[in-house]
Amino acid sequence: MPTPPGAAPAFPDAAERSTRDTTLRNNLRRATHTIRAKRAAAVAELADWGELRAAGAAIKDHTLRHLDHYLEQVEAAVTAAGGQVHWAVDAAEANAIVTRLVRETGEREVVKVKSMATQEIGLNEALAAAGITAYETDLAELIVQLGHDLPSHILVPAIHRNRAEIRDIFRTQMGRWGRPAPAGLTDEPAELAEAARLHLREKFLSAKVAVSGANFIVAETGTLVVVESEGNGRMCLTLPETLISVVGIEKVIPSWRDLEVFLQLLPRSSTAERMNPYTSMWTGTTDGDGPAAFHLVLLDNGRTDALADQVGRQALRCIRCSACLNVCPVYERAGGHAYGSAYPGPIGAILTPQLRGTVSALDASLPYASSLCGACYEVCPVAIDIPEVLVRLRERVVEGGPVTVRGTRAVIRPARGHAAERAAMRAARWAFEHPRALRAGQRLASRTRALHPRHLPGPGRAWTRGRDLPEVPAESFRDWWQRTRGERGTA
Ligand code: SF4
Repeated sequence: MPTPPGAAPAFPDAAERSTRDTTLRNNLRRATHTIRAKRAAAVAELADWGELRAAGAAIKDHTLRHLDHYLEQVEAAVTAAGGQVHWAVDAAEANAIVTRLVRETGEREVVKVKSMATQEIGLNEALAAAGITAYETDLAELIVQLGHDLPSHILVPAIHRNRAEIRDIFRTQMGRWGRPAPAGLTDEPAELAEAARLHLREKFLSAKVAVSGANFIVAETGTLVVVESEGNGRMCLTLPETLISVVGIEKVIPSWRDLEVFLQLLPRSSTAERMNPYTSMWTGTTDGDGPAAFHLVLLDNGRTDALADQVGRQALRCIRCSACLNVCPVYERAGGHAYGSAYPGPIGAILTPQLRGTVSALDASLPYASSLCGACYEVCPVAIDIPEVLVRLRERVVEGGPVTVRGTRAVIRPARGHAAERAAMRAARWAFEHPRALRAGQRLASRTRALHPRHLPGPGRAWTRGRDLPEVPAESFRDWWQRTRGERGTA
């Protein structure tokens, strides 16, 4: 069971532990550096990448502005195609709907594929509490599940594991969940993949119910789209009798023409492929072909609250490519588990506090899990200005203020432990609003610079534990301007 955010440690505490794990750091560094180099090469092949990126951002922004219209279009199209649409306002409601739907089939097992939304809501745990076992079928998710672990990357959930660790997990755990690993299994990738294939095939052929997510929903026809590299998703989506798809409401795009843009942006950004190996699409049900029953659970769980924030709403453009994780120096060192959410890395640092709020110590700390270097913005295929949203969320943590909670405007209190930061920001604001006082302060600071400490005392100590205070220059810019420009200076 994932640790509830209220009980999870704040990011700095979790990261302090994980950064001491040298195996984890080595695994992460090797994997992220390899992926980021390949991605850069794949993106450089397209002369119109900038235009594609702008188009992706514009399509998402347009859809989010008219989300009510497109969601109703989805509901009408899915229903007309023989599917059923369910609306879930939060995790509890979504879990209850899926549990009921599985129970109604009389089954006690489900196979699962490609669904970060179900990790977000803790569906596996909710099903287990109802006596239903969920089997992950994505290879990396399988490794995570067999290892009693949590995903640590959007695209490669087991990125923190090396081959030897995976071999040991397969050897000791596969037999408990179904077909055991072959005797004498080594850590050769081909052998590991074959062991997983045999283990999973048994599940695919026996499962009557599947649970999936979706990368996109095309509103004009109510078509769901899953892109993947292994083909396991296709087995999950076609073989069972009942298919239940749990999808965040932000996954809607208006038309097939729009899909074309994202089918170029996503594979190059995530796996550095020109085209993803498997693209599965399904629209309702078809007699004699694929699942006989299809349910679409449209998940809100804080998304309309995020939509209400003019700066923060851009996080809902995310297509979960994971490019921002692979370039983030903080993620590379801290690892995904430190973020305490299904969404690690830079996107997690802005999405999770918007979906869950900034009340818990963990969620209030996430906007600070960044160096604000901007590398995440540079690589984001839908141009989400992650640093801008981080600063916005930091302001919310420090100052509190109006937010939307479950569709209603509320005022949150400033988070505890930020009194010094708050006082410093207020002092800075006052100084910038009073130029004479600012100039006097600058001169005083310049004249006393030899006496300045290199580290802050008191509450500022934590900030300067890992860095020196910048040196105050001998002369302020204003004084330098006036001295060198004389009468002409107007600074
Ligand atoms: S924020 Fe951008 S780069 Fe990061 S996962 Fe989402 S789409 Fe990809």
